[in-house]
Amino acid sequence: MKPLGPIPRGYGAVDGVLAVDGIPVTDLIASAGGTPLFVYSTGLIRARLAELRTAMPERLAIHYAMKANPYIPVLRLFSELVDGFDIASGGELAMVREAGIDCTRVSFAGPGKRDEELGEAIRAGVTLNLESENEAERALNIAQAAGISPRLAIRVNPDFDLKGSGMKMGGGAKPFGIDAERVPALARRVIESGAEWRGFHIFAGSQALDAEAIAETQAQTLSLAAKLAEETGVPLPHCNLGGGIGIPYFPGDQPVDITLVGRLLAEQFAKLPPVLADTDFCIELGRYLVGEAGVYLARIVDRKESHGEVFLITDGGLHHQLAASGNFGTVVRRNYPAAIATRFDAEVEEEASIVGCLCTPLDRLADKAGFPRAEPGDVVAIFCAGAYGASASPSAFLGQGPARELLV
Ligand SMILES: *Cc1c(COP(=O)(O)O)cnc(C)c1O
Repeated sequence: MKPLGPIPRGYGAVDGVLAVDGIPVTDLIASAGGTPLFVYSTGLIRARLAELRTAMPERLAIHYAMKANPYIPVLRLFSELVDGFDIASGGELAMVREAGIDCTRVSFAGPGKRDEELGEAIRAGVTLNLESENEAERALNIAQAAGISPRLAIRVNPDFDLKGSGMKMGGGAKPFGIDAERVPALARRVIESGAEWRGFHIFAGSQALDAEAIAETQAQTLSLAAKLAEETGVPLPHCNLGGGIGIPYFPGDQPVDITLVGRLLAEQFAKLPPVLADTDFCIELGRYLVGEAGVYLARIVDRKESHGEVFLITDGGLHHQLAASGNFGTVVRRNYPAAIATRFDAEVEEEASIVGCLCTPLDRLADKAGFPRAEPGDVVAIFCAGAYGASASPSAFLGQGPARELLV
């Protein structure tokens, strides 16, 4: 039998059925109109933010990287909980507007911004994290033509990466940001143009679980920001320290010691050099804020045996939960946390694989794991589905269409 990842804290059972914020998922499925369904918990999102605020120095603002979960009710919830939003496309700009979010709290990173996207963002008062000299010139020209002083920051490609991170976003040749040694010249160009100078954005990696590695990266980020600000010759108004705080997905993963990260960052803040004395700092997080607060629910349509193995075949699959199938940036496939939601407190009785309804062998949500015996009609739950689930899966594949979503 293969192990499953750890079920996040905060989920319980009501009459043997998995419950989210105290409501059995069978009731949630009924109110949403059926499966497959993503359920996101307001209670767990609020608790996560409260925990993070307690751990982090007060000086650190918290931004939500909305690509993790752009569901409009989730954006509206975050608009009262976080200090800012990070977007990565004109489409995401339209979504933050639909959610009624004040665009002056929004920053826009990401390579390949088109002129129309730059224009929309500049007119809305969004801060642009410039990804290249070319993008900087296009933004300045568009702003000048519109008679607007644009809000501009520079995304720095740092010369280090986040150790142990699932996704490296810095260090060496990258399509993201501008190589650190070229940043001061561009920063001076931006400042001399009369733009509103918004400082640096330095993002070194994602999905790290080691508090000390995260703290070390934050310390390196602060010293790089100080060096670049010195070379630019102007105190730094703002610095986005990136993110990187991960969540446990797989067997053996331990949650990040967030209290330690906060304490070590406070120590760094206590000894900042003069160019950073008045800098506003933020971090931008996606999966840490919302990943564990979401669960994906699919109904078992068929139960089959083949060569002695049990397959629980569901109405969901990788078209909604690509990452759980092991096909979104993982090298070795391992099991996400999963359970039979309708028999949530029952004992393990058999080894089974949970698969989706797509005709590809890639469509496997749990591989040879231990579950109570489940039948057609039972509901399976795949946890850690709040981030990079609905928005990062190929829902058009095989004509399946998107899953339902519900914020409880
Ligand atoms: C994706 C991304 C994030 C969020 O990453 P998570 O792992 O979800 O926290 C933050 N900043 C930038 C620039 C990103 O591209």
